[in-house]
Amino acid sequence: MELSYIINELAESREDYFRAIAPPLIQTSNFAFKTVDDLRKSFEDEYSTWLYSRGLNPTVEILRKKLAALDGAEDCLVFNSGAAAIFASVLANVKSGDHILSVKNPYTWAKKMFEEILPRFQVTHSYIDGTAIENFENAIQPNTSVIYLETPNSWTYDLQDLAAVASLARKHGIITIVDNSYCTPLYQKPIELGIDLVLQSATKYISGHSDTVAGVLSGEKKMIERIFNSEYMNIGSGIQPFNAWLLIRGLRTLEARLERIDRTTQALIPLLKAHPRIEKVIYPLDPEFPQYELAKKQMKGACGLLTIIIKTNECATIEKFCNSLKHILIEQMAGTEPLEEEKNQNGIQREVTR
Ligand SMILES: *Cc1c(COP(=O)(O)O)cnc(C)c1O
Repeated sequence: MELSYIINELAESREDYFRAIAPPLIQTSNFAFKTVDDLRKSFEDEYSTWLYSRGLNPTVEILRKKLAALDGAEDCLVFNSGAAAIFASVLANVKSGDHILSVKNPYTWAKKMFEEILPRFQVTHSYIDGTAIENFENAIQPNTSVIYLETPNSWTYDLQDLAAVASLARKHGIITIVDNSYCTPLYQKPIELGIDLVLQSATKYISGHSDTVAGVLSGEKKMIERIFNSEYMNIGSGIQPFNAWLLIRGLRTLEARLERIDRTTQALIPLLKAHPRIEKVIYPLDPEFPQYELAKKQMKGACGLLTIIIKTNECATIEKFCNSLKHILIEQMAGTEPLEEEKNQNGIQREVTR
């Protein structure tokens, strides 16, 4: 399917709503039925009907179809945060006694789930350096039910070879989940590489305007329907119609925004690298990046997130640097804490800006 068709036309039936170009915002909690029997039938299969907006909603439906198509997936669910998509995807695929194999340093709330919530239900986890496939082979346990990936991951942009991990997992009957927030489906399509479930925080590039929090989870229809009928409905964390409407609007300009972001970032990197106070710039599509070849193989582009390491061994200097930034905002994504393993390493501290 053509990208512009997905973004501008797919799932939009304008004849049904006065030929309006902008999709309708169906801001309703409930839907009414003509007869009790109609209502009864709807209860039996909430996945294919309008019953109550904690389940399906027509505005959300337009968005779902577009996002699933972007991921090259059969189906998807849209949550009211990326964290909720992470939670549902993992919860749906573990039971007491299972083990999760996760790439080290996954997104904060994935980590919290693995370390603080799931151990209460006898679900264990281990973290590995995901840059080498042997590390996965060696760490799989007989009770491993999920391999959790994030590529590129935040801050270090370490990559995992998605096709290799997917084929290894298939052999062992393990479900693979990847956080694709960095690339978005425009620049990386994990499902085409054999990954079972792909999620992203739609808060970032899909929305694109810092005004919505949302998450997407895509995969085979069978799996997505199962998650809908269980975790999605039970946690009640589906996206609300207005936020879905904002995301449809965000999608319209996604391709153009990403192109511009890509261009600006590529132009910025040589300038940052040449700066006398900067030790190092980390960016997956920089030829000096250690996994550059893999990045080129599985990613069509990179986004605007990069890491710069400034020449200092003082946290206070990093803070001063951040406080002096005029155009780059300090927001909750900006970490001032060095990564654990980076502490005291050659006196270099790591700093992240976006
Ligand atoms: C922001 C982010 C999330 C979480 O998404 P929310 O929409 O904030 O819940 C998950 N993974 C990555 C890599 C992110 O950057």
